[in-house]
Amino acid sequence: MKSFLQLVLLVFYSYALFGQTRTDTIVVKQNTIPIDIIQHQSTSLAFITLHHDEQTGIAAIQNVLKDSAGIYYCINTNSKRTVPINSDGKRFEIDPNRIFNLMTSPTNYEDESHAIKQHIAKYLLEKLSAADLTIALHNNHDGRYSIKSYQQDARFKNNYLSVSINPMMDVDDFYIVTDSTQFNYFKKQHFNVVLQNNEAIQDDGSLSVFYGKNHRPFISIECQFGHLQQQIQMTKAVYGYYNTYFEPIENILQQTEPDTSK
Ligand SMILES: [Zn+2]
Repeated sequence: MKSFLQLVLLVFYSYALFGQTRTDTIVVKQNTIPIDIIQHQSTSLAFITLHHDEQTGIAAIQNVLKDSAGIYYCINTNSKRTVPINSDGKRFEIDPNRIFNLMTSPTNYEDESHAIKQHIAKYLLEKLSAADLTIALHNNHDGRYSIKSYQQDARFKNNYLSVSINPMMDVDDFYIVTDSTQFNYFKKQHFNVVLQNNEAIQDDGSLSVFYGKNHRPFISIECQFGHLQQQIQMTKAVYGYYNTYFEPIENILQQTEPDTSK
């Protein structure tokens, strides 16, 4: 009996300390899409990874939630970027970060993928709506898309209002934020940060554009593949922002200043 009680206590403390992991599913037509969820204490901060090939971001948030509060949603597509869909014998791939502009548009019955994309978007947005702040984690490749792209690539000229770069930081590691309070916070903490132009940016169906256009708090953490420590630090730094501008959460780590020692 005593050992049973100890086991119950152990399970209870592990849940309280390290969070609970479970898997939910999105069921649409003949498809079952697994959503891995880690919940640790509070649900006020919601984290999401949309691309399952971006494993550095996934490892970073798993690490942070061991000792920080929050809820994390992971579309589990077996390390693939896209979600494979089977619709009445036809097969296609959906990029889960190109679906959120379909939430308000009327269903296009000509396009079989349309209703399926709407279904996935609706599921994810409903889950995330319980949080005060949503944070997406992404990874990019060295020397391609970076914070410099905003200043140097004409295709990005309508996408942003301001850019702040710390020359000590890798240009591939940066935040994309959706309001000027967030921008000023991370700039002051000497992180690379881009302020999205929520009005002028072309709606590509991404989650950051959806949140920006709906004026809801959203932060994207972009890091180069393999920059695990940087992405962990940048994720922890979001708690500092959260505790400054929202009802503070107890028992969470705070991180300020990027570690530029390499
Ligand atoms: Zn991504």
